Amino acid sequence: MEYRTIQTTCTYCGCGCGLLLEVMDEGLVGTLPLKTHPINEGTLCIKGWNVHEFVESDRRLRYPLVRKDGDFQEVGWEDALGMVASRLMGIRDKFGPDSIAFLSSAKCTNEENYLLQKLARAIVGTNNIDHCARL
Ligand code: SF4
Repeated sequence: MEYRTIQTTCTYCGCGCGLLLEVMDEGLVGTLPLKTHPINEGTLCIKGWNVHEFVESDRRLRYPLVRKDGDFQEVGWEDALGMVASRLMGIRDKFGPDSIAFLSSAKCTNEENYLLQKLARAIVGTNNIDHCARL
């Protein structure tokens, strides 16, 4: 039996608490608070204590799904991203850039949020970008 911990950041909210994921034989089995982290200093809220549960959940979406004939069907990432880009550009061309809005998430990193606002402003051409933490 092999046991190890992986240091990472909680993805549930924007506080960014540090934690250790407990891995046993390549399976995620638990979460521990990181005592040396400057944000949470060894504490976690109830969501943080259970962050490992969604990673292994069989209800988690792992692949893009596209609705076809009333059912969701699995597609590859290239196809899904191409479809989204094509639809967004079609809407922008027909109705203008401000017909599109982007909503980002506290579960994303600062870098990911930065990239989304770049996509909104530089590619689509709108300032319609907001973040779930403001809702
Ligand atoms: S442990 Fe709780 S407070 Fe800390 S980042 Fe996760 S959800 Fe936010």
